Amino acid sequence: MYTIDHWISGARVRSTSGRMGPVFQPATGEQQGQVGLASVEEIDAAVSAASEAFASWRSSSLSTRADILFRFRQIVDSRRDEIVQLISSEHGKVPSDAAGELARGIENIEFACGIPQMLKGSYSEQVSGGVDVYSLRQPLGVVAGITPFNFPAMVPMWMFANAIACGNTFVLKPSEKDPSTSMLIAEMFAEAGLPEGVFNVVHGDKVAVDRILEHPGISAVSFVGSTPIARYIYSTGTANGKRVQALGGAKNHMVVLPDADIEMAADAAVSAGYGSAGERCMAISVVVAVGEVADPLVEAIKARLPQVKVGPGTDPEAMMGPLVTGEHRDKVASYLEGAPNEGARVIVDGRDADLPDKGFFLGVSLVDEVKPGMRVYDDEIFGPVLSVVRVDTYEDAVRLINDHPYGNGTAIFTRDGGAARAFQFDIQVGMVGINVPIPVPVSYYSFGGWKASLFGDANMYGPAGVDFYTRTKTVTSRWPDPATSKVDLGFPQTK
Ligand code: NAD
Repeated sequence: MYTIDHWISGARVRSTSGRMGPVFQPATGEQQGQVGLASVEEIDAAVSAASEAFASWRSSSLSTRADILFRFRQIVDSRRDEIVQLISSEHGKVPSDAAGELARGIENIEFACGIPQMLKGSYSEQVSGGVDVYSLRQPLGVVAGITPFNFPAMVPMWMFANAIACGNTFVLKPSEKDPSTSMLIAEMFAEAGLPEGVFNVVHGDKVAVDRILEHPGISAVSFVGSTPIARYIYSTGTANGKRVQALGGAKNHMVVLPDADIEMAADAAVSAGYGSAGERCMAISVVVAVGEVADPLVEAIKARLPQVKVGPGTDPEAMMGPLVTGEHRDKVASYLEGAPNEGARVIVDGRDADLPDKGFFLGVSLVDEVKPGMRVYDDEIFGPVLSVVRVDTYEDAVRLINDHPYGNGTAIFTRDGGAARAFQFDIQVGMVGINVPIPVPVSYYSFGGWKASLFGDANMYGPAGVDFYTRTKTVTSRWPDPATSKVDLGFPQTK
């Protein structure tokens, strides 16, 4: 059994808090490691390291920062397999899925390599006689990231790539469920020449998070996780004067109109519903079948389910791995237990699947005739359970989605351009796919849901990430001829 340390000031630091958390191998169900859960003092040590590193890092040239990010990108790229294995071992997702996560994470490093372009300010000459105005973007200082278990590489990369490129120093508190990936990333940053203290990793639970939220040395907090915690992070962090972006949970609907290609829609629903065992904030968890499409669509989805091979990441044939913990697996299964009592029809029950003997596995499930008010509809299940809601019209589908408290992602499948255009206009959701089931924006756009899926007004990564990790300073400048100088107590005017 291994022990996972913190990474503070460019070195591994063993936790002395006396508190440890278990790290499981979800595919076997066994505990494979333990992670030190930081004390207040350990968080303070990481923040001190980041504070000390800040003055020199923010003074480094843009090309120096870009150069280090380029080297970091090369190191991550050349060691993809190692990262993928680590993700698969602690999270449980199959290697092809882990490789996809990593690839999308690397795109955020690539975006940050172009930071000199993003940090250009603006300049207005002659706003008044001999007076110019220009604005600069400057880093905030020490910023923190608190991340969920389901993307141990990609979500931290959403945050730290831009934060560090903008000249901030970073304290990452990854999920305690799969903490090793962030340590490997820290080593790779060191190898790329990132100065000590610019990137730090502290592991922990609520004790660590609460200290981050109240620490006066931290200027901003980026959070991704479940909605109740996101709400708490946003309210506590902002009450403590910090800039906060807090992304929460989701319930993503995929509308299938009667004119859609049913085979294509069924492929998309299965891929987006069960990929990563449904443990994605952009997973499709509800198929909204409009009109007569419902019966053939449900049949087409059901026909595909026996092909979804469930197994450990070490099995090259496995398409879907286990859930992250036994507790989470049992919680997901409880929705299947409850659904018939609420009036839904469980067509395929993942509890009956032929599964490996060990590990936190659950097969794929399909639940039809689901309606608002049922737990299986209202809650974010975060597992391999796909619900089908049958509605009569396009308008019913839009109303259903707009009435749901979450607004992360959604998709529409249709051949009708006008219907797709109307959907993008009408729908109260932050990320929309048109015949694309998982519309995660590329790294040069920005990621963010609406309603209970995001607290605050700052989306993550891309241009919004650069905005979040910088503040604007506006300079009004005059180089007068001393001969024209005089006392004038009037308010400055431009004409
Ligand atoms: P989580 O909210 O349980 O944990 C997220 C982070 O918060 C972890 O680092 C954890 O240690 C910390 N945390 C947990 N409980 C806490 C508490 N009581 N006080 C303070 N900190 C606490 O989320 P998770 O289970 O790790 O991840 C799954 C959730 O994340 C799902 O709801 C999913 O939709 C969401 N998610 C959202 C996005 C997005 O972009 N919107 C992306 C990925 C995951």
